Amino acid sequence: MARYIGPVCRLCRREGMKLFLKGERCYTEKCAIEKRNFAPGQHGKSRKSKMLGYGIQLREKQKVKRIYGVLEDQFRRYFEQAERTRGITGETLLQLLERRLDNVAYRVGFATSRAAARQLVRHGHFTVNGRKVDIPSFSVKPGDIVSVRAISRKSAAILHALEEVKGRGVPEWLQFEGEGMSAKVGSIPNRQQINLPVQEQLIVELYSK
Ligand code: SF4
Repeated sequence: MARYIGPVCRLCRREGMKLFLKGERCYTEKCAIEKRNFAPGQHGKSRKSKMLGYGIQLREKQKVKRIYGVLEDQFRRYFEQAERTRGITGETLLQLLERRLDNVAYRVGFATSRAAARQLVRHGHFTVNGRKVDIPSFSVKPGDIVSVRAISRKSAAILHALEEVKGRGVPEWLQFEGEGMSAKVGSIPNRQQINLPVQEQLIVELYSK
């Protein structure tokens, strides 16, 4: 699956907020938003925010896509799936994105960023219910157990991430199991448990035009 491979701090600057795409660096003063919180490009500093309607909706969609590292076509498919599902479309959209295996690995703390988690998944470091899964978009469901594979438990990247993100906490819908190398999906997260500063309703409005 294709993914964005350009400079990521630029994406945060474009949205005017931290999207936490780089792991540890995002929590330090080296973060580009701390140093240059204006839009990228030659005219970034002088660009005035005069966004209305469509512009605001578009930025909200871009923000969510960038946070989860999903490109347009895949994001559209998530939206269509959310539309077909009973419930509030915007909330369902976020739930589908949260249930991605790479996101779960990040939320639990096996990686410092979603991008790092995606790479770990691709390299086959995780199992779901005892079976190796190397598809970052794999969708977990309540009751699933996501584990670091036995041969990966000494992986420096995973051990380092677990140490780094200790203070971040794990969302209520995920629970550590065993010796901290497994996590159970307790439930589908509700909107309060998806701690993201986005207005998903704007994305629904954008795609409903
Ligand atoms: Fe965004 Fe992290 Fe870069 Fe800061 S360091 S601009 S939060 S990706």
